[in-house]
Order: sequence, then structure tokens, then C-alpha cells
Amino acid sequence: MEPIIGITCGHEWTDGRDRYFAPTAVIRAVAAAGGVPLLIPNAFERQKLVAALDAVDGLVLPGGVDVDPQLYGEEPALGMGDFDPDWDGVDVAAAGLALQRDLPVLGICRGMQALNVAAGGTLYQDIPTQVPAALKHQQKGPRWAASHGVALAADSRLAGALGATHLRVNSYHHQAVKDVAPGFRAVAEAPDGVIEAIEGAAHRYALGVQWHPELMLEREPLFAALFSDFVAAVRSAKSK
Ligand code: MN
Repeated sequence: MEPIIGITCGHEWTDGRDRYFAPTAVIRAVAAAGGVPLLIPNAFERQKLVAALDAVDGLVLPGGVDVDPQLYGEEPALGMGDFDPDWDGVDVAAAGLALQRDLPVLGICRGMQALNVAAGGTLYQDIPTQVPAALKHQQKGPRWAASHGVALAADSRLAGALGATHLRVNSYHHQAVKDVAPGFRAVAEAPDGVIEAIEGAAHRYALGVQWHPELMLEREPLFAALFSDFVAAVRSAKSK
């Protein structure tokens, strides 16, 4: 049986719309890696989120808007962008539950930030105003195009999955992990020191990447390996 992979839904409320959604590229990447994508919106009751997680074998947290700084004990800085309690209410909460029950979890961009916050870490609310001598992490260019380098920890699951310790990645974020959550470590860094990936040490699989591998994999097949490795971890957790 193919493993069921929950994907938390984003929420939009602008221009008269009020709806949940998930990025097509993430859904396709999960399906191509052998998972069955199942979207999880905010159902506004913790018990319903618990029941949704009971129904899946692994969890993916896609990218999106900023995490509410209140969730890591800060007031909003001037450079902070859009936030949405209905969005945090599903993926920060789901990340916390996944870690609690050791459900394999992959966070992408905002999803990595949500994972870090759920585990007790903090974020830079705005790289350009808070990180001195930072590179440009909000690239202007095609979504699939790599724009900056990253160095990976050689002993990380991520480096093992990708078979590389240096990569070039796309970059669509103005926030970043500041204090890595207890029990996690940084496993990839940009040349300016911005953390580009984190891994949980005590979990079967808890990994976040700051870039968007799902947008690169058609042109850079290497990044499909990240999703294959995640689905392999889900299969292995499911069989135990
Ligand atoms: Mn970046």
C-alpha cells in the first residue's frame, strides 16, 4: 500500500476570497515519490486535527506566509509580512503533533519555519532588516532557478539523500530560522550564515528545507531524491 501523506493547507482571505489551498508542485512531488497526497485544512478543533493525523503516515508542511511572531514570543517587527492565524492553526499545530507522535514530517520554506517554531525555536522576522550582510534570499527570477549556494552538513540525512554537500538552491523567503529549536540542528547554511535546513536529532524523520525543491525538480532531478527519501522514511516508520 502506498503511504498516505498529509499536506497542510494554506489559507487565503484577500480579494474577497476565503479558502484553503495547497501548492500543485508539492502535491505532484509527493505523488511522484510514491505517496498518496491528502490535504489537511484547518478544522478549527484540535481533536479533528488529531484525527486527521491519525489518518496519515507522514506530513508535509508547504511554503507560504509568515508565521505569527506571537507563537515564538515576539511582537511584530516592521519588516514582517502577511500572517494568518487560520494557517498557523493548521500547520504549526500539525507540526507539533507530528513531532509528539514521531510522525515523519518534511517542512518546506514556511513549513520549515513552522516546524522550528512548533519545536520551540525562533525566527528572523525579516532578513533584510535583521541579518547584517545578508544575501538576497527573495530572488527575482524563474521559480526553478537556483540563486544561491548552500553548504550541507556531511553527516546529515539531507546530504545523504541528495548525495552532495554543496548545492545551489532557489530562494523565496524573507524570514529564516534564528534560534534552532531544542532537539534540532542546522544542517545547511547559505554563505551569509542564514540557516537553510534543519533536522531533528531524536526523530525518525523531521527535516526542514528553506528552499523549494518541488519547484526545481523538473529541471534538477536531484531534488526529487529529497521527496523519495522522505517517502522511504514514511514507509519505514509505517512498517514498525
Ligand atoms: Mn535562501
